[in-house]
Amino acid sequence: MLRFASLASGSSGNCTIAEARDGARATRVLIDCGLNLTDCERRLGRLGLAPSDITAILVTHEHGDHADGVFNFAASHSIRVFLTHGCLGAMKEEGKVLDGVRTTIVTSRESFAVDGMEVHPFTVPHDSREPVQYVVSDGSSRLGVLTDIGASTVHVEQKLSGLDALVLECNYDADMLWNGLYPKWLKQRIAGPFGHLDNRQSEKLLSVLDRSRLKHVIGAHLSQQNNRPELARAALARAMGCEESWIGLATQDEGFGWREL
Ligand SMILES: [Zn+2]
Ligand SMILES: [Zn+2]
Repeated sequence: MLRFASLASGSSGNCTIAEARDGARATRVLIDCGLNLTDCERRLGRLGLAPSDITAILVTHEHGDHADGVFNFAASHSIRVFLTHGCLGAMKEEGKVLDGVRTTIVTSRESFAVDGMEVHPFTVPHDSREPVQYVVSDGSSRLGVLTDIGASTVHVEQKLSGLDALVLECNYDADMLWNGLYPKWLKQRIAGPFGHLDNRQSEKLLSVLDRSRLKHVIGAHLSQQNNRPELARAALARAMGCEESWIGLATQDEGFGWREL
């Protein structure tokens, strides 16, 4: 059985958790940890878990909202970290890598197992050193998490087709971004090919996937400045052809609670 939840989602910190259970054995991975140690521990408690329940952390890329808490959490609780060469190198240069943490290099070409969880990294266009996003599986159900991608690609769409659950970035509404207060260079970065997806891009991406198995679709990484929850929800509902209330949303303060597959 596979279940998943979010501790936080947005530009101030991201952390998704996935759990594969086989009888009494549970494998739990954090996908990213952009939270400080006490905040991460507190939010895990909210989901009924202790830090010692976590098997590993999968890192997508070195941006602080995804990676700033990774090594503190891993060092404090003896947890393995999986990340790309590029991400590790960037984090070393920023002084964010701590000695004594067991790291494993992943590449977008090779799937691997973390105990009872299958992990499939895939490459995405984003302005970081060697970014990947992840599909995880317990062998029967598959969850995809896709945030921090400037534009969809055929490769990404192939990886996300036929999933059972998808957590999908809806970063901004284009009108709100361009009419908003951000400096021009930042608007261009966010909207550029290595930035983030807006609601319309996410709608389009979702609409071209094989959605026949999807039981959960959750909008994530919403900008608090440049988006509104109802706009993101409406965009994903259009792509699914479903009621807006069926679409979940991940928030900065709450993330979202457990969803089961
Ligand atoms: Zn981010
Ligand atoms: Zn990023």
